[in-house]
This record gives sequence, structure tokens and C-alpha cells, in this order.
Amino acid sequence: QRSLTDADPLIASLLSQESSRQLDQIGLIASENLVSQAVIEAQSSIVANKYAEGYPGKRYYAGCRFADELEEIAIARANALFGSQFANVQPHSGAQANSAVMLALLQPGDTVLGMSLNAGGHLTHGARVTLSGKWFHAVHYGVRTDTCEIDYEEVAKLAFEHRPRLIIAGSSAYPRKIDWAKFREIADAVGAYLMVDMAHIAGLVAAGLHESPLPHAHIVTSASHQTLRGPRGGFILSNEEEIARQINAAVFPGIQGGPMMHVIAGKAVAFAEAATPAFKAYAEAVLENARAMGEVLQEGGVDLVTKGTDNHLLLVDLRPKGLWGNEAEVALERVGITCNKNGIPFDTAPPKIASGIRLGTPMGTSRGFGVREFQRIGELVLAVLAGLQIDSRGHTDTERRVRDEVAALCRRFPMYTS
Ligand code: PLP
Repeated sequence: QRSLTDADPLIASLLSQESSRQLDQIGLIASENLVSQAVIEAQSSIVANKYAEGYPGKRYYAGCRFADELEEIAIARANALFGSQFANVQPHSGAQANSAVMLALLQPGDTVLGMSLNAGGHLTHGARVTLSGKWFHAVHYGVRTDTCEIDYEEVAKLAFEHRPRLIIAGSSAYPRKIDWAKFREIADAVGAYLMVDMAHIAGLVAAGLHESPLPHAHIVTSASHQTLRGPRGGFILSNEEEIARQINAAVFPGIQGGPMMHVIAGKAVAFAEAATPAFKAYAEAVLENARAMGEVLQEGGVDLVTKGTDNHLLLVDLRPKGLWGNEAEVALERVGITCNKNGIPFDTAPPKIASGIRLGTPMGTSRGFGVREFQRIGELVLAVLAGLQIDSRGHTDTERRVRDEVAALCRRFPMYTS
């Protein structure tokens, strides 16, 4: 058998360059992380060759003995980690998990109430360009104008007005804790299902640093690769047997074919890792680092949406600097810091320009950056923004200096080297 380098040098070279990029840059994309070597090994194993349509003990193919065991272990570990009774670990992604819930619980044309994209919700929570917005009647709640925190009164008002069949809580760019109990109270008052999409904060929930949605939601969906630090994928949890049965049928055969057994193996590894004291310490550091970087940024004259953070991300409002999110994203990438432009609540700029950037600490914390490093990263971000204010194409001297410092910092915190 030939190695990848021999068999396909072009692909091998691109993979190697991408590894270097990840390690030579400071990754501040809030939804990204660096998985463990063990997760990488599980994911790249040859169990990927196996077709295992169906569920453990009820497959449509022979030869599933080990696939069954792997999936059963992944399910048991997910349930133990999150305190749920039922888990489906087959969704190929967070978006697939959300689609499966909609297929399970809704009929086309039913009403769903989710957080608007502008306020920090996810596309799959009813945005017009997605299945969730095209096949269902989507209504959106947002955040309060004074605090930029979720407007629970608006959630209740819209729920009574539109009588949704499904209410979705959870977000992609919201820096504060979410009150699941309040959402459940509203859902019960109008006879709706409550789905919590905890994709961004699953690792924080696992570590006990954000209240678990499990006691409140009828269904919890998640991605496995964000703060949870597992392989790319999704999963669904529930405590209600009938809902779990409907969810299983919706995942397979409803929207997917054979499960990716190699990814399920990776999820099993990640669920076990997330149950350790080391992971709890990691998640605590993620929060501490976000707060530390946020303070430096605020002192440096940018606004943080909600004036701070309870979680792993900062939503930076660049308007006080007179800069756009897209120019900041590009300038930061020039110096080796990756983040994404992001709309801020009530943004008047189009999404491709945006008035903000979203910064997260999960990836940097995984490579070992602590408070000191994140404070310095905050200063480096401010320096790049100041350079942009001098010269809209980026102040070259400033950027050269920051690029050198980013490279030096990354060299001090290598990953995947043992
Ligand atoms: N749900 C939320 C809240 C997300 O933030 C994301 C992605 O960022 C998703 C779902 C979709 O996950 P995936 O990209 O795995 O489909």
C-alpha cells in the first residue's frame, strides 16, 4: 500500500499546508477547535469502510458487530455526559441534527419560532435560505435594544400570537447564558415543543459551566466539534421515549443513509474526554480567557455586544473604531489571526460587510494559551485595528510587527508534535 504522499502528492501537500496553517495562525473562530490525537486516530480509522445503515442490533447489513458496539458506547457516553436517556449519535452535522428534529416533529407549513440570524441565531433556525425557512413558517425573536440580551417578553408575545409547533433556543453568536426554563415555560403555555440547539456551548454544558438544557427541552441538538472538541458531526438528546423513537426514524432513513462509523468512533472518544477533570479545567480556562481578552478589547475602545461575555465568545462591535467587520477579518488574517466578520444586533450593514467580528477562545485554549496570551492577543487585535484606521488597506509596519509576534507566539504553543 502506498502512503498518501506517494499516491497523491498534491492532496498530501495541501493537507500538510493546512496543518501548518492551523498551527502557525491564532485561530479565534468561535466554532472551531483542535481535537485530540485520539479523536484524529479514531476518525481516520478504517471503520470508515463499513456500511451500517440502521441502529445497533437492527442493521440492514451484515458484519456490524463492532459497529454496533462502537455506536452503543458512543450513545452510552453521550447519555452519561449530558444526563439524557436517549441519544442519537448519527447526524452528520449540527445542521443535519436540526433538520432531523423538524422532520420528526413538524409537518410542512407548521410554524417554528427561533432566534433571528441578525440577533445571533443559526441559519437552520428558520432563515429563509434554508430548509427550515422554506418548508416551515418561520417567525423570529431577537434581543432587547437596551441590553442586547434575549428579549423573553418578545419570545412570549410571538409565541402567543403565532402558536408555533416548535420553539428553538440556542445560538451561534450570543455571548450570554440562556434561560432554558423561561423558554420551556413559554413553550408549555402555547403547547409547543422546545428544542435547544446547544452546538456552540455543548462543551460548557458538559463541564457544568452553562446550565444543562436537558431538564427543560423536549429535544437537544448539538454539533460535536465546537466547544465540545470532538470530530465534526452532530447528535441529538432527549428524555422522552416517544420523541426519541421519532428522532431515530427521522435521522435514518428520514434524512441520512449509512452512519459515518469513523466519526461515531471519534464522538465516543470525545464524549469520554469531555467527562474528565482535565476537560472541566479546559472549559473553565476557555471562559476565563474570553473574559480576559474582552476586558483588553473594551479598554482599547471597541464595544462588546452585551458589554462582555458569559461564554467562549465575544461579539465585537467595531463601530466606535469606524471600521467594518469584513476589512477587520481580512486585515487580521494578513497577520495570522483568523476570525469571522459578524453582524451585530440591529446591524444596518449587509452580512458580507457587517459591523462586527466574532472572536472565540476554544481553539487557542486547546493549544495552551492562557490569560496572559489572550490579553496579548487582544492587544494585537487592537493594534491591527489601529493600523487600519491609519491606512484602510492596513498599516504595513504595524502588521509586519504583529505578524512576527503571532508567529513567535504560535511557535511557543505547538500542537500535534509528540
Ligand atoms: N447550530 C448552531 C447553533 C451552530 O452554531 C451551527 C454551526 O455553527 C450549527 C447548528 C450547524 O452545525 P454544522 O456546521 O455542523 O452543520
